[in-house]
Amino acid sequence: MTHDKTAQDKRALHELTIHAALEGMRSGEFTSVQLTQALLDRIAAVDGNVKAYLRVTAEKALAQAEKADRRRAAGDDAPLLGAPLAIKDVLATSGVETTCGSRILQGFMPPYTATAVARLNDAGMVMLGKTNTDEFAMGSSTENSAFFTTHNPWDFDRVPGGSSGGSAAAVAADEALGALGTDTGGSVRQPAALCGVVGLKPSYGRVSRFGLIAYGSSLDQIGTLTKDVRDAALLLNVIAGSDPLDSTCLETPAPDYTAALTGDVRGLRIGLPDEYFIDGMQPEVEASVRQAVAELERLGAEVVRISLPNTDKALPVYYLAATAEASANLARYDGVRFGYSAGADSMFENIRRTRGEGFGAEVKRRIMLGTYALSAGYYDAYYLKAQQVRTLIKRDFEQAFTQVDVIAAPTSPTTAFRIGEKVDDPIQMYLTDIFTISANLAGVCAVSVPCGFDKANLPIGMQLIGPHLGEETILRAADAYERATDWQRHAPALTGRAS
Ligand code: GLN
Repeated sequence: MTHDKTAQDKRALHELTIHAALEGMRSGEFTSVQLTQALLDRIAAVDGNVKAYLRVTAEKALAQAEKADRRRAAGDDAPLLGAPLAIKDVLATSGVETTCGSRILQGFMPPYTATAVARLNDAGMVMLGKTNTDEFAMGSSTENSAFFTTHNPWDFDRVPGGSSGGSAAAVAADEALGALGTDTGGSVRQPAALCGVVGLKPSYGRVSRFGLIAYGSSLDQIGTLTKDVRDAALLLNVIAGSDPLDSTCLETPAPDYTAALTGDVRGLRIGLPDEYFIDGMQPEVEASVRQAVAELERLGAEVVRISLPNTDKALPVYYLAATAEASANLARYDGVRFGYSAGADSMFENIRRTRGEGFGAEVKRRIMLGTYALSAGYYDAYYLKAQQVRTLIKRDFEQAFTQVDVIAAPTSPTTAFRIGEKVDDPIQMYLTDIFTISANLAGVCAVSVPCGFDKANLPIGMQLIGPHLGEETILRAADAYERATDWQRHAPALTGRAS
């Protein structure tokens, strides 16, 4: 059972989009303190079942809200002034514990704040807390979190997706107006699809990675989880742009992404890749995405059949490249510099025990895979080969974007699966990323928008992929589609077997 939020005369404060909340505060209808308190009350009421947050920073949030109200009273109208948001726990927040969902970082207090979060702070955000994630963002369900699994607000028996499952569930359950996540192989888009919210992964280099605790450095990007496309554009406006602290962050100035939301897709060329409509995907997912593309066509877009011929190699390439980079990035957890230490007498014994006790099974599996792929004698056959094929995948997209402006595809081959269903079968879990990882390998941008429900009333997401720095185009298409449909107005029932 769902209810139509618009059927109510007035939405409750916690149900608002970011842009509606900003309007409400601008016009003096309510204050940030009232709004923040409404969100904290909502969290208190539902998060025992949803379990989106690893920690709620209520006191800090109310202090930030008071400050936002004072700023507004003094005439300030910063772009997110007083908006309560949630932050994935792989983003460093000075003075607020940051764990990456791992025991090895339990108790870790970063001495600095990630650039994206600092920019949100400057823009007036109220941070509600840090959201659950698969350990070091490795996973597709949040079941790899060392602490607990987040439940899908549409059905508590099911996963919210991952790894940014806490952020997606928080937004879907109205426990935050919006959130930041990170996407290395789909971790913003896939949970967005499974929770029925909008998930944007910007192009590689669009958003600074400074303070994003690294998983696969050549793939990681910070992205947004929001209730609608306009909110995604609002957040991207704040977090995009060059940063001297991240040499991979591009100098290209960020435009005003909200200006791209014209509602007009006439003449837009949309490519439908043969390789993204495959046997074994849930038929309702395929049907909904095809229907959504037909809607865009009705709005004036032109649909073209295209091919991304190297798509079948994306999964093995990703699981070599990402694990190789992870094995190097995670070498820093030695029991001396950060977080947990087993406290053994000798240095080597301490490293061995700290890592043995601190990392979970999936993280260990990936460190082993990545170390193997990089090792002498195997490097050429695995890592180097993966890099070569990665170039071919990138070329597939470059070629496709000479023919079309946007590529449309499903975000995930299925709707939310059951908790426990895939967690003991890594290959099955990895296959859930089949439609999202290529965008990371190619460095291009992509957004997932709600486009329907299956028979079990679980949300379905359509993915719109754009060329490198093509955020304006995909946001324009996603927004036009959203205006023509009403999927985002459905709210989850928050039922199922809660734990
Ligand atoms: N599910 C993918 C993985 O496990 C992607 C994760 C991510 O994007 N952080 O690596």
